[in-house]
Order: sequence, then C-alpha cells, then structure tokens
Amino acid sequence: MSFKSLGLSHPLLKAVAKKGYTEPSKIQLKAIPTILEGRDVLASAQTGTGKTAGFTLPLLQHLSQGQQLRRRPIRALVLTPTRELAAQVQENINTYSEFLSLRSTVIFGGVNAKPQISQLRRGVDILVATPGRLLDLHSQKALSLAKIEVFVLDEADRMLDMGFARDINKILDLIPKKRQNLLFSATFSKEIKKLANKFLKHPVTIEATPENTTAEKVIQKAYHVAKIDKTALLVQLIKEGDWNQVLIFTRTKSGASRLSKKLTKRGILSAEIHGDKSQNARVKALDSFKKGSIRALVATDVAARGLDIPLLPHVINFELPNVPEDYVHRIGRTGRAGAGGEAVSLVSHDEKDYLKGIERLLKQSIPLELIEGFDPGEPVEVEKKPVRKPFKKKPRPKSNYTKGSTSKSNTSKGNSSKDNAGKGENKGNKVNRGKFGAKRRDSDNKKD
Ligand code: AMP
Repeated sequence: MSFKSLGLSHPLLKAVAKKGYTEPSKIQLKAIPTILEGRDVLASAQTGTGKTAGFTLPLLQHLSQGQQLRRRPIRALVLTPTRELAAQVQENINTYSEFLSLRSTVIFGGVNAKPQISQLRRGVDILVATPGRLLDLHSQKALSLAKIEVFVLDEADRMLDMGFARDINKILDLIPKKRQNLLFSATFSKEIKKLANKFLKHPVTIEATPENTTAEKVIQKAYHVAKIDKTALLVQLIKEGDWNQVLIFTRTKSGASRLSKKLTKRGILSAEIHGDKSQNARVKALDSFKKGSIRALVATDVAARGLDIPLLPHVINFELPNVPEDYVHRIGRTGRAGAGGEAVSLVSHDEKDYLKGIERLLKQSIPLELIEGFDPGEPVEVEKKPVRKPFKKKPRPKSNYTKGSTSKSNTSKGNSSKDNAGKGENKGNKVNRGKFGAKRRDSDNKKD
C-alpha cells in the first residue's frame, strides 16, 4: 500500500518521499484515511510506530484545504506532556509542511516566553504546546484557542501520569465544542478510556500494536547483578560489545547524574538528561548523542519521553522502573522503524518484584541471566523491624565517674545519630506512594 492510495495530496506526498518513506507504517495505514474523513480517533501506539506522521499528515491536509484567513488564527492544537516531545512533533510538522503554506510553532516552559509570544503574534495555523505554558500564555492573552478545528492529545497516558488531568480539562473548556479530536496513547488504561469517553465523539479505535506489548523485534535481556556491581557490568557490556550509542535509564535524577559522571571517568563519554537540567542543556546532550560525539545518554523516564533517536541499537535499564508501563516506553526507544534492537535490564535482588510486575504487564517472561564474574549470590536479608536487644546495663566503672560528665553526654549523642541513620535507610526502602496512595515514579515528574 502506498501513501498515495491513502488519499494524501501532492505536496504531502512530495514531503514524505523527500523524507525517504516508501510505505506507510501500520498506524499510518489506519489513521490517515480515518482522520481525513474527519472522524475522532482513539489510537493506541507507542513511539517508534510512526504515529506522529500518522496524525500530522492528515491534519496538514485538512488545514491546507480549508479557507486561509489573512490573520491566521490557531486552527490546530497538539498537546504533549514534555518539552522534548513538543519540539519533536513540531519538527515533524515543519518537515511534512515544507510544500504547503502553513505555519506552525511550539511553546513550552523552561525557556523565555518572549520569542514564543512574538511568534504567536505573527500568526500560526498549528500550535504544539505543553499544558503549563499554553495556559500561562492564554491567561496573558498572548494566544486565542477560539478557532481550534482539530485537537490532538499526544502521549495521553504520560499526560495523566504527570498529573496534567486538570490542565487538560481547563484547555478543553477553552476550545470550541465543535472540533475533531485525536487521542494517542502508548497504553490503554482505565483512566485513558475515561478521558477518551469524556471528549471523543464516536471515535474510531485504532490499535497499531496490541495493548501494552513491547515493540516487535526488540530482544529483551535481564542480568542478575548486585547493585554495587552494576556500573562495572555496564562498562563491561558497553566496552566488550563495542556499543557506540547507548541510552541508559535510571530511576532518579541524582542517579542519572552520578552514573553519567562515572561512565565518563571510565572512558565512556556520556551526558545526562533529566528534569533538573535546563532545556538548553537537554537539547545539547541529545544533539551530541545523535551526532555520536558522546557514546551514552543517561536519562530518567520523564525526560526521555518524546526523544526521537532513529535506529537506536541499545537501551539499558540500569535500574528497573517502579511503574511497569515505563518499561514499555523505555524499550520502545529501540527497534524502531522496523530495525532490531536490544533492551538490557540490570536487576538487583531488590528489583525482582519490579521485574515480576513488568512480566505480568507484558504477559511474557524475561528470564534472569547471570554473567560470569557478576553473580550477586544470595540476597542479604534486610531486617525490616530491628529486633531490640534486651537492654543490658553496662557496669559503670566505679572510679572516675561523676554525674553529668562529658563522657555520658557523648555516648547519648552517638546513639541518637545512629538511630537517625537507621531511620533514613528504612525510609529508602519504603514504596514511594503518592498523596492518595497511588504508586508514583521515583523520578522527575517535573511539569512544564
Ligand atoms: P514516531 O513514532 O512518530 O516517533 O516515529 C518514529 C520514527 O519513524 C521517526 O524517526 C520517523 O521519522 C520514522 N517514520 C515515520 N513514518 C515512517 C515510514 N512510513 N517509514 C519509515 N520511517 C518512518
């Protein structure tokens, strides 16, 4: 099946051919004709399936056919959870609209709003935005959403994960009731279905990949290793395998930072990308990674959303995610556009339960393998409740003891700091739960 047979116009076919696509991907085959018909769509598709072109191409066709007003109002709004994804989507829109006279721009937080405002003043047909900055600029009257004809919610599952539900509702109140709605999500949870029911009208459901399955052709491996040996094993894997482009996931921002430094010290040039890094630093790190001037990119889940790194051969889970769906997102970074890829997880004793959760979600087993020299041995039992030793009174030395002496107060200080250290460790072992008891990612759910 060709792009032409999907009903796309000549300028779009020209742009697609220039990009080098020969045939539509599965999601494009289904989504393009449906969206061209003007129907609402509820699509289950992970990154790497070609979903962006799947909604961008028909969206551009619709807008190019409509009446073009001199003072361009925003006619299409694409909402994304992260800055990276927003930038990525706009890049796609730019590419595919090369032979059309449509204008688009992107707005997100973390950078100066002034250039974004002046871009909006010049008039744009398509706006790609993250929710926070969109509402901010709307409240400043820097933009109007009154003429929206098509509303796209991209990576809706991540939107909800990041706590954007209220912002989405506010935005829905600002756009006209009569419009076409497109919802894309990598996973189809109950919450997503609820959200879909709320604003999609008789949607056509498109499932390019079965629910919550990992990208085809990705080889998944899990190595059982002690936490303390993970860096050494990772260095060995990268060096011996001669891996030149490795995306590594950690659970926390500080973990990403530490690991990136350790790798660089050991001769594997690396950069980190997480919520504490400025937008410019993230873009720079990603560029160096894409160009191949660094070998490894260490990322947290949220920061990595929307990264488009074609033909990424290796993804490493340095730490398994505590939210199983994140595993699907992570390994969706490899094996894209029909190419094979390898996803390797380094699993320590305390992460075995996370692995079980992932296996349950995927309905697939990922056997734990051992690597010579890295056998973690038996788990060291961690006492959850310290058993109190019966208090034995130490016999006081009879001589040299005076009431309130410094030696007594020193002893008591020493004990209390020990107690605190113990409490701190216990804290670290607790399951991280959100305000209402929902399981929460340990990483950076920083909103834009
Ligand atoms: P996406 O899922 O939208 O993030 O796209 C993943 C990657 O696939 C991007 O690098 C696209 O440029 C690429 N891509 C999209 N559509 C096609 C196609 N029909 N043929 C080959 N590559 C494609």
